[in-house]
Amino acid sequence: MYDVVVVGAGPCGTAAARRCAEMGLSTLCLEEHGTIGHPVQCAGLLSIAAWEGCRVGRKPILHQVRGARIMASDGTGFSFDAGTTKAYVVDRGALDREMAGSAVTAGAELQLKTYVRSIEDTTLRTVGMNGYREVSGRIFIAADGVRSGIARMLGMGRSPVVLAGIQAEIVHDVNPDLVEVHPHASPDFFGWVIPIGKNRARVGLCGGQQVRERFTTFLQHFGTACTDLVTGALPLGVMPRTYGRRTLFVGDAAGLVKPTSGGGIYTGVRSAMHAAEVAAICCETGRFDDEALAEYECRWRADIGRELALGFRLFQLRRTLTVKEVDIILQTFQNPDMVATILQWGDMDRPSKLVMQLIKKPEILRILHILFRSGVRQILK
Ligand SMILES: Cc1cc2nc3c(=O)[nH]c(=O)nc-3n(C[C@H](O)[C@H](O)[C@H](O)COP(=O)(O)OP(=O)(O)OC[C@H]3O[C@@H](n4cnc5c(N)ncnc54)[C@H](O)[C@@H]3O)c2cc1C
Repeated sequence: MYDVVVVGAGPCGTAAARRCAEMGLSTLCLEEHGTIGHPVQCAGLLSIAAWEGCRVGRKPILHQVRGARIMASDGTGFSFDAGTTKAYVVDRGALDREMAGSAVTAGAELQLKTYVRSIEDTTLRTVGMNGYREVSGRIFIAADGVRSGIARMLGMGRSPVVLAGIQAEIVHDVNPDLVEVHPHASPDFFGWVIPIGKNRARVGLCGGQQVRERFTTFLQHFGTACTDLVTGALPLGVMPRTYGRRTLFVGDAAGLVKPTSGGGIYTGVRSAMHAAEVAAICCETGRFDDEALAEYECRWRADIGRELALGFRLFQLRRTLTVKEVDIILQTFQNPDMVATILQWGDMDRPSKLVMQLIKKPEILRILHILFRSGVRQILK
């Protein structure tokens, strides 16, 4: 019997497996696919903190960016350029493989082409290249992504919102230093242009409806020559309980994705660390009841819970805004004092730092008025 069995070898699964192995736990990580990191379902934009959380060498880094340009509906935009590296653009497949390699180096076992088809008490039933098997573990970490079969098998509640995403890699001249954000390309989320150099970029969007149609329209601005196409789903809002029945849910499986940006690596890998540490405590004390597992939820909530809750609230507000209201908000942010504040306090992973500064600004009254009006509109609908 293993101490810990991790289901899924995405970044959160391998981060958890690595940490468990480093703490001396016998650890097995199961992955249904035969190749780690394939298919890619990600834009590969990582804040510096997210990148550092992955704890691998720089090989997967393709490019770096210094800030963002936010586009209004008339095609004009305004930029935040920090003048220094703010985020990395990575080869996500390579990142996943590096992380899996580090987990194996730390002592975790990795079994590919092994699909977990059921879970019961301490036993997982698998099917794959070794045929039908049973694997035993004292505790499980479910890192099996947005569709989490483990959550379904255990009858756990799921994330309240799942968005669809499509992205193309294109050949097109772009500003290599700034990510472009297009709020109007997808009214319930946004579109993006992420440079991978001077003339290559990832162009994509996420949304709750008409995602293919929106994407086709958006892509037309850049020509249609596309060298790589990615589709995927994004869970927003954390599942009602992230633990239960000897299992801790991490990353997308738990809905631990930043609702303002759709970034899931930072929060997911942090959740994986907390899960591994709590798994170690459970193995040491021999307690695997829900009360003991609850410590995991206390830890990730203390770390990233406030940011995720604020992010979800902002996501809900953003969904209620009209095109005109978004443009007015963008105009308000162009004030030099606001730009300076955003550059000083903006943090991709912790938006509350910036929000706390912005609410001290007189200009924010205009934005609060818009948000209040759109909130009332929603209630009256
Ligand atoms: C279009 C798009 C763009 C994105 N862009 C970004 C970005 O720029 N930056 C960012 O930080 N995040 C981004 N994300 C989010 C990010 O991709 C996810 O948050 C991240 O992949 C979550 O990692 P994970 O390990 O939890 O899950 P996954 O990466 O989904 O890994 C889950 C693994 O579990 C395996 N698995 C599933 N079920 C089983 C089973 N029953 N048995 C065995 N194995 C199983 C799967 O094969 C998979 O390998 C984006 C998402 C989308 C859809």
